[in-house]
Amino acid sequence: MSEPYYAQDVPDTHRPYVAAPDRHQKLDYRRVGESGLLLPPLSLGLWYNFGDNRPFDTQREILRRAVDEGITHFDLANNYGPPYGSAEENFGRMMRTDFTPYRHELVLSTKAGWDMWPGPYGMLGSRKYLLTSLEESLRRMSVEAVDIFYSHRADEDTPVAETIGALDTAIRQGKALCAGISSYSPERTAEAVAVARDLGTPLVIHQPAYSMLNRWPEDGLLTTLSEHGMGSIGFTALAQGLLTDKYLGDDEAQRSMQRPSFDEGVLTEDNLERLRGLAAVAQRRGQSLAQMALSWAIRPGGVTSTLIGVSSVRQLEENLAAAHRTDFTDEEIAEIDRLSGSTEGVDLWAASADIE
Ligand code: NAP
Repeated sequence: MSEPYYAQDVPDTHRPYVAAPDRHQKLDYRRVGESGLLLPPLSLGLWYNFGDNRPFDTQREILRRAVDEGITHFDLANNYGPPYGSAEENFGRMMRTDFTPYRHELVLSTKAGWDMWPGPYGMLGSRKYLLTSLEESLRRMSVEAVDIFYSHRADEDTPVAETIGALDTAIRQGKALCAGISSYSPERTAEAVAVARDLGTPLVIHQPAYSMLNRWPEDGLLTTLSEHGMGSIGFTALAQGLLTDKYLGDDEAQRSMQRPSFDEGVLTEDNLERLRGLAAVAQRRGQSLAQMALSWAIRPGGVTSTLIGVSSVRQLEENLAAAHRTDFTDEEIAEIDRLSGSTEGVDLWAASADIE
């Protein structure tokens, strides 16, 4: 005889979703440059743990909790997965089951620029690629428009006017509300800003890699953005997990989650020593290393928001606490400056930013 069915046996993620009523009181939203757009200090990125490589129920649990905790921004791209496109597909499923009633209070982004499909039209910055890709992203995500559409990387062979013109067209077609660029050098950014301004579609946001181990935006980009009234949202603030406790202990289970894009060459004794030093500063602040790395990225003078990638609700909860500790003493900043700095093997996106 089969077991009787009890309502309490239904897993949480299979129950209809109702967002926490106090979600808007949990984070202080920040203005993106001089635009009208506000973002939470921590936003959720769906690059790696939201493809077909992770259980759908875990993804759903993370996104539901994120919304309950006041995270209003989800960052995607056409090729997030693995496989490419699957993060948008999975997000679309959650949109249909859980988030459609909340669509108006979410800021959704997607991007095109890196490789997506084979052949000449699935890569870089052509009008053909960007606009075709956006159509497909909207279908996968089950939305009529995204809030931010990004050129994912600079392209030295396509005129910047064509790439930025494609973002402008997407906005005029009602398929995106704001335009953004990612990993553009300060010089390319200034060029793109001028084109966008002429078209009447200001660039609102730049998405650069920014962490204690990859500080390139401090070398001119943040100044350029502020001169042009643009905001910023950093990515890989945890250097894909390097700036966490993951590599400081002997927990092989944690390390085994390592993704193919993580360069094991960064695990030198010298770098691990620096991580131990940073972890000691974090401990004195009453934070974990991950929390301090995130607080540092969004400190005064840092980026407007930072993306977090998480594989569990536990990580999400730990990371969220970082939003409330963005104050640093001069001594802490000096010690972090001594131990941090650009680190070989961390910045996989530098080549794109270097194009001028
Ligand atoms: P990350 O925040 O540097 O790394 C995230 C990883 O760190 C997680 O997957 C997790 O590893 C680990 N982690 C997170 N919190 C932890 C904690 N409290 N304790 C221990 N480990 C923890 O970021 P990312 O995932 O590389 O990137 C974040 C987002 O940035 C992406 O989702 C995407 O939206 C964006 N991004 C944009 C670009 C671009 O070109 N524009 C490029 C890369 C990323 P495990 O999964 O092993 O648990």
